[in-house]
Parts: sequence; C-alpha cells; structure tokens
Amino acid sequence: MDRVYNFAAGPAAMPLEALQTAALEMCCYGSTGMSVMEMSHRSKMYLPIYQETVSLVRELMHVPDNYSILLLQGGATQQFAAIPMNLMTKSGRADYIDSGNFAHGAMVEAGKYGQARCVASSREENYVRIPAWDEKTFDPEADYFYITTNNTIFGTRYSALPETGNVPLVADMSSNILSEKYDVSRFGVIYAGAQKNIGPAGVTLLIVRNDLPGHCLPITPKIMDWQKQIENDSMINTPPTYAIYMCGLCLKWLKKQGGVEGIEPVNIEKAKLLYDAIDNSRLFRGTADPASRSRMNVTFVTDSPDRDAEFVKEAAAHGLVNLKGHRLVGGIRASIYNAMPIEGVKALVEFMKEFESHV
Ligand SMILES: *Cc1c(COP(=O)(O)O)cnc(C)c1O
Repeated sequence: MDRVYNFAAGPAAMPLEALQTAALEMCCYGSTGMSVMEMSHRSKMYLPIYQETVSLVRELMHVPDNYSILLLQGGATQQFAAIPMNLMTKSGRADYIDSGNFAHGAMVEAGKYGQARCVASSREENYVRIPAWDEKTFDPEADYFYITTNNTIFGTRYSALPETGNVPLVADMSSNILSEKYDVSRFGVIYAGAQKNIGPAGVTLLIVRNDLPGHCLPITPKIMDWQKQIENDSMINTPPTYAIYMCGLCLKWLKKQGGVEGIEPVNIEKAKLLYDAIDNSRLFRGTADPASRSRMNVTFVTDSPDRDAEFVKEAAAHGLVNLKGHRLVGGIRASIYNAMPIEGVKALVEFMKEFESHV
C-alpha cells in the first residue's frame, strides 16, 4: 500500500528517509551485529548515538554552551510537574499565560507545588487567540514565567515573546520546536515532547540554562531532578534508547533540509497555502484569530459539524488522513509539522476545492 499524507497532531508523520534508514538498520546497526534496540544504554556502541542526537539538537537550535540538553521520559506532561519542582524554590511563585489546554494543565499542576498565577488568559473565548498581556502586571519576584509557544489543539502561535526581565522564561515548545528560529538565550527552559516535531513518542527534550537546576524542592523524585539528570547524561535509569536513535535520524534529515533556517520558509509557505485556501473559500472558515494563527496546526470548520465529518471521511478516502479536529474543538485540524511535505498540503488544498465544488 502507498503511504498516505498523515495530518495527525501527534504522534505525527515522520520523514520517510528516517524511517527507511531505520528499516535498513533494524536488525544490524553498522558493524555491531545487533539492533539498536538490543544495545546496552551504557555501551560503547550506544553512547555515540545518544551523543550525536544531543549534538544535533545543539547545532540545529544554536543552543549556547551554558545550557544543558536532556532527553527524558514521561512526556511533556511530566514536565508540567517537574518545572515547579525544580524552579519554584525562591519566592514559590510563578506567572503563567493560559493560552490553551496544555498551558492550563501545566498551570493547574504547578499550583500543587506553589503559587501559579494566571497573568493572561483566552480560556473564556475557547482559546481562539493568544491572550494580550500587560508586562506591568508580571511578578518581578516570580521564580519563572511560563508560556506555550504553539497551541496544538486550537491552532495558535505566539508571534512575539513576553519581556520577562530577570525572570526565566519557560516554554513548552512541543508542537513548534525546530520549525522556526528561536533565540535560545531568551529562555531559561525550553521543553518538548518528541512526537510532534522531533521524532517518535517516548522522548522529551529539555533544554535548561545551567544556573537554574540544583535547588529542587525536597519532595522532588530523583528521576525528575534536572540537576541529577544533567550529572547522569539523562541516564539515571534506562533512557528510551531506540526512540532517541530515531530522533537522531529525524534530526539528520532536518540538517539536510538546511536546518531550522532551511525549513522555516517552507513551513511559512505551507501554512500560507492552506490559510489562503480557507480564506478564499465560501465553505471553509478558520477558527483561530488570524493574528494568532499557527504554522503547525491549522484549525478550520465547514458550515456544519455533519459536513466537517463528511469532509474528514472523504479526505481519508483520498489518502489525506487524521484531519479530525481535537475533541475539545471539533471541526477539522491539519497538522503540518516539518515532516509534512509541501506536496501533502497542495494535495489537501486541491481536495478542499473539489469538496467545496460538489457540496
Ligand atoms: C502534545 C502536547 C503536550 C503533551 O505531550 P505529552 O508528551 O503527551 O505529555 C503538551 N504540550 C503541548 C503544547 C502539546 O502539543
């Protein structure tokens, strides 16, 4: 069977080249005589795979030397708790912008360990936009300031970052990491579940400025203590060895595309093609505020939920799959991460025109 264009939000499409290399190396990696899955994580065979994956993250994101890079388990969701445990250690307070369901969940979780204050929210408007903020209301004594740079479910993205002064900015970049340039030095912590824009599920990337860890709350489980993970090269226990290897293959593919600098213009073009098709249509309507539109998750609807469902079903029959919106918003969502080729977006746009012409 032919491969489909997979618009899933995560786990999501991966570069075909990475999958093909993995298939070739599945049973026998290089001259080791075994699969990567069968290697000890502390072996001479495996450690270079881990090191190369970390180095590729450093290179592709231009991560400065005073930041550590960790490859952890537990998903982005585990970091919702790990962040306050590691950082809510001075004033015991943090500021959050509530821009979506994951941001909200992170804020609620942090409230178990200290005072998590909401400084701006678009929850009342079902998160159709990134809420406006007023820097004068920010707590200068906060231990950190928290944002979600791209809101996967609602299809919104920050086009500018809040100025937080000396308060470290912590960002959940799960759904737009490596898709656009960011100046890492503006952040205290960047983290992301791998399954959207890095590789397969099972890995969580965490980039942390070295002066921040080392003061965690006494109740912090050792496995969630960033300082201990740094001292152990993310290997307090067995890391997700194969998933890390797969991330490495995907990052090598990204490097061949010209890195983040090479892929960002393609991502902008892909998103523009799709939003133009929506804006020029009589049937489709975008659900996110145009000023907040995401380049990675494009959310839209037709004139009725029944027609949305019909569209999703017919699209699937044309090899355009996983277009159903998240259960919290309904409608249609096309996730077009780095690995979605522009041909996939063009095929979707063509199908939208065809669908509109016969309904
Ligand atoms: C998917 C997602 C999460 C949750 O990730 P898990 O790895 O499943 O815990 C958190 N934040 C954002 C922005 C996401 O897109």
